Amino acid sequence: MTEAIAKLEFCGVRGSTPTPERENGRYGGNTPCLELTAADGTHLILDCGTGLRALGNRWAQSNGANGAHAVDSHILVTHYHWDHIQGIPFFHPFFEPQNHFHFYSFESRYLGPGSLRKALESQLASPYFPVDANMMSAQRIFHEVAGGGSWQIGGVRIKAARLNHPQGCLGYRIETPEGSIVYATDNEPDGGEFDKVLRQLAESADVLIYDAQYSPEQLASTRKGWGHSSWLEAVKVARDARVNNLILFHHDPDSSDRVIDGYLSAARQEFPDTWAATEGMMVNLSKRGVAVKLRESRIGLRKRLRFAATVSGVDQDGKKFEEKAQVRDLTMLGAYLALNNRPRLQSELRVVMEAAGEGNRGSALSFRGTVIHCEIGREHTQNGVGVVFIEETESGLPRD
Ligand SMILES: [Zn+2]
Ligand SMILES: [Zn+2]
Repeated sequence: MTEAIAKLEFCGVRGSTPTPERENGRYGGNTPCLELTAADGTHLILDCGTGLRALGNRWAQSNGANGAHAVDSHILVTHYHWDHIQGIPFFHPFFEPQNHFHFYSFESRYLGPGSLRKALESQLASPYFPVDANMMSAQRIFHEVAGGGSWQIGGVRIKAARLNHPQGCLGYRIETPEGSIVYATDNEPDGGEFDKVLRQLAESADVLIYDAQYSPEQLASTRKGWGHSSWLEAVKVARDARVNNLILFHHDPDSSDRVIDGYLSAARQEFPDTWAATEGMMVNLSKRGVAVKLRESRIGLRKRLRFAATVSGVDQDGKKFEEKAQVRDLTMLGAYLALNNRPRLQSELRVVMEAAGEGNRGSALSFRGTVIHCEIGREHTQNGVGVVFIEETESGLPRD
C-alpha cells in the first residue's frame, strides 16, 4: 500500500506586489497562492495572487488538477487586497465550463452581502480588464464564512479566524488526516485578543505559514500599523503555539534574496525548524512527519567535471562542518557536489575549489551557494547536494 501524503506547493510567496527583479528571483516574485491536495484527492487553493497563473499553466500541461480532465476545487481567499486576488483573471481553468470551484471568504463591510462575488468580479469590470466576468464559464459557488466558523470539505476540516489587518483578513487552519496546516498571512500582532486567537488557531500545527514581511526594527517603527509582521513575531507564535515547522511568508517586495536569507538564519537561531517560503517549494505531510523539498532550478548549460574542493556549511542538526569533497557538475546557476555530511536545505555552503598543478597554488576558485537539494547520491555512498549560487552585491564580493 502506498503511503497517504498531503501535498502542499507554494506558487506565490511575495507580499503586496509582484516583483520580477533579478535580486529576489531565488525566492520568487509572484504574490500569494498555494495548492494543497489531500491524500483522498480533496483539492484546495489558498489565495489567488499572481502565482495562480503559473498553477493554471501547470494544470494545462497535466490536463487538470489531478491529471483528470474536470477540476473540482475549493478556494480559500484570506481577504480582498490586490496581492491576494490579482491572479484570478489570468487563471484559464475559470474559463472552462467543465470545472467547478467553491470560493470561501468573509462578508466585507465595504461591499455588503455577496462581497466575495463582487470583489472577484469587479476586477474584470470595464474599463479595468478586456474580458467580462460572464466569460468565466466554470461553475463558481460562493460561500461567505466568518471568523470562528468551521466546515468540512471531503476528508478535510477547515477552521477560520479573524486576523488583525486593515479591512479584515481570515487565517485558516486546515486539518487533513495526514497533518495540519495553518495559513495565517497579513497579520499584525496587537498584544491582545488577536494574538490569543491566532495562537489558538495555530496550536500544535504541523506547519505554520506566517506573515514575516518586515524586520523587527521596521515593524516597531516605520511599518507599524501597516498590518504585517516580522520573522521574530513568527518565531514567537511558533513557540507559543508549539508548532512543528514554521514557514516565513509574504516577503516584502523590497526584500532581496540576501535580506530573506538573513531573516531565515536569524529565525533558525531561535526556532530551528524554520523555512523561508520559496516559489516551487513543496511540503509533504504524512504519518512520518513533514518533508520539505525545493524545486530543482539549476537550469542551463551543464558541465560534468570532477574538482577537488573544501566545503563548509551547516548540517541538518544545525552543526557546522567542513570536509574535502568533489564538485561533480557546474551550470551558470549552481553546482552539484558529493558530500559525506548532509547540509540543511536553504542553508549556505562555502566551496573552495583547488586549481590543478603546482604553478596555480593560490588561485583557488571560491563560491557560496544555498542548498536546494540533498539526497543519497548517484553512487549511493555519499549525499548528492545541489546548490544555487548566491549572488554577491558589488560591495559584498568575497575578498579571496
Ligand atoms: Zn498581502
Ligand atoms: Zn493585505
